[in-house]
Amino acid sequence: MRPEILFPLFASITSLKGVGPRVAPLLERVAGPLVRDVLWLQPHSIIRRTPAAVADAVDGQVMTFDVVINDYQRPRVKTHPWRVRVADATGMLTLVFFGRFGDDLEKRHPVGARRIVSGKVEETQYGRQMVHPDYMADPERPVDIPEIEPVYPATDGLPPRRVRQFVLDALEKAPELPEWQDPAWLAREKLPAWREALVRLHGPTGEADLSPLNRHRRRLAYDELLAHQLAMAQRKAARRREPAAKIPAGPLSDRLRADLPFAFTGAQERALADIRGDFQAGERMSRLVQGDVGSGKTVVAMCAMADVADACGQSALMAPTEILARQHYETISGPLAAHGVGVVLLTGRDKGAPRAEKLRAITSGAAQVAVGTHALFQDEVAFHRLQLVVIDEQHRFGVAERQRLQAKGQAVHLIAMSATPIPRTLELTMYGDLDVSRIDEKPPGRTPVATRAVPMPRLDEIVGRLKEAVAGGAQAFWICPLVSESEVSDLAAAEMRAIALRNAIGPGVGLVHGKLSGAEKDAVMADFADNRLSVLVATTVVEVGVNVPNATIMVIEQAERFGLAQLHQLRGRVGRGARESACVLLYDPPLSETAQQRLDILRRTDDGFVIAEKDLELRGGGDALGLRQSGLPDYVFADPFAHRDLIAVAGDDARLIVNRDPDLTSERGKALQVLSELFDWKAGLALRDAG
Ligand code: ADP
Ligand code: MG
Repeated sequence: MRPEILFPLFASITSLKGVGPRVAPLLERVAGPLVRDVLWLQPHSIIRRTPAAVADAVDGQVMTFDVVINDYQRPRVKTHPWRVRVADATGMLTLVFFGRFGDDLEKRHPVGARRIVSGKVEETQYGRQMVHPDYMADPERPVDIPEIEPVYPATDGLPPRRVRQFVLDALEKAPELPEWQDPAWLAREKLPAWREALVRLHGPTGEADLSPLNRHRRRLAYDELLAHQLAMAQRKAARRREPAAKIPAGPLSDRLRADLPFAFTGAQERALADIRGDFQAGERMSRLVQGDVGSGKTVVAMCAMADVADACGQSALMAPTEILARQHYETISGPLAAHGVGVVLLTGRDKGAPRAEKLRAITSGAAQVAVGTHALFQDEVAFHRLQLVVIDEQHRFGVAERQRLQAKGQAVHLIAMSATPIPRTLELTMYGDLDVSRIDEKPPGRTPVATRAVPMPRLDEIVGRLKEAVAGGAQAFWICPLVSESEVSDLAAAEMRAIALRNAIGPGVGLVHGKLSGAEKDAVMADFADNRLSVLVATTVVEVGVNVPNATIMVIEQAERFGLAQLHQLRGRVGRGARESACVLLYDPPLSETAQQRLDILRRTDDGFVIAEKDLELRGGGDALGLRQSGLPDYVFADPFAHRDLIAVAGDDARLIVNRDPDLTSERGKALQVLSELFDWKAGLALRDAG
């Protein structure tokens, strides 16, 4: 399958000069198992080896001098080093060599000879010295000291200079590849050819060449983005070709909506219309519904499930935790049951006869909707006619888990729901193989949550206010994050907080954390939901979707440790009703400027999409929002922030290619096959496949 032209790049690193059994594991740790991976290492900085005067030596810097050898101090004890004194017109320097060099050293570099030495200078009690120079060369001979030397990632036992040699060898092995980019576009953007870009990558002429905005880096980033987008577009197209049952918009859904005490927002209408469009297209749907907590995703999914029930099919709604599954069940079972739709809740806690009863209802089709946790995709669960799978917080499930559930029916439609707001620029890289509906409008009548950042020393004041509020009937969440290395000490901190709050406020303070069993958690949550507890202290287990409408206060300790999106989601737990709500972000002063700005954003807006966008800007990419956990791919060259303009172009480009040349048989298509193989996104993609 792999084109022959790529063989040298996909050969093992042991095919590189000097990579034997000792070096291979080290190089593999730094780069990866393939020559390609070594070729793709990127210098993170450069060392200049322009000769300087010895008098200008700076402690700790890599410097280069043009010197004459003055004399040798041989070691009297074997374990002592050889010391070689050298000098130029401005000063003296001692070169230090450990190990057994013997007379060989002196023979190669006799007293009186002129040498270019380059290495790290150190000021010590023995004077100015250089231990094991990187280079020591005779200027009369052709010298191989690079004027500007790129510095590569390295590891113990494999210094950057060795890595650089392997990189240069890999570069030599890299063939010219057929051009897969549109030549007109390359010319317009003034981007170099692939191989030329790599030559520049490994031969920087200055610091500016290290910037991701450089043309050669943009070229490599674009290749990577296009390969990825192409893989996703192909996948999406393949899924579309799988015929799936057409599901008409039925009357049940309309009757359900008529029963609701509210009207859909415009965004909800659009999302449902998107879903219904997919249902009627006769192709498998893979749609992500993205929207803040409380934006009304579940209600939209319920209408989709009603359409499926109308068409005599079954739906499954899967949530990552038992609490969430239960809440979903409570939200949708009433309205659905009122119209004769059978709904069951299946979790790990169902045992014995009641469980057998539920399984029978799913198998016979008596239950048209099954809500549950991981329990839903176990082998014993068989559906009568599963047509729709709805997955809440989809990134918290593994692909295998999602696929096992979908495999319980034929060409099952998929709706994934996510409350993690993704900046629009990143949507394509994370969900390029899905269709996306955004619910970017909140149901009316919600008052924004008053948000304040308060330094920890003012804790007593906050507790005092909380006490007053609780006396007036309010309920509050108090979040103690899991942040330290040790879960035990974090848990202890949360327990201490609960005790302290009980002392200050009274007995109505509960504690919920990850070490509790599902039943224990549920019991505490139920006490809080039914207002038997006023304050719920929690580590982050207050799962994003949990709904306690009477809670109006959210206190978050060490808010500076959280991602903005996470803070936003936690804040979303309050302010569900018409009553005034408050969110207090407690922080340990002093705050860095960025941390300050981040907390400010939260105070200024409650639009999750805006917050995500700003967070990305402030952090300049990287692991903004903990995006990696939610599925941001691990790119080699592409930087989701620096190259955000390229993401959209690559997405369009990929769609166009797949439309025009789905099997990649044209001239450019063939070159694109090489590109796909080169980046090999298939493996990575399988992990992120939502369908
Ligand atoms: P999500 O799944 O996005 O967190 P839900 O669908 O669970 O949101 O809705 C959150 C709450 O808001 C529920 O109590 C729901 O009944 C209510 N709700 C949903 N849509 C609307 C709307 N358009 N107007 C008023 N309330 C709504
Ligand atoms: Mg929800």
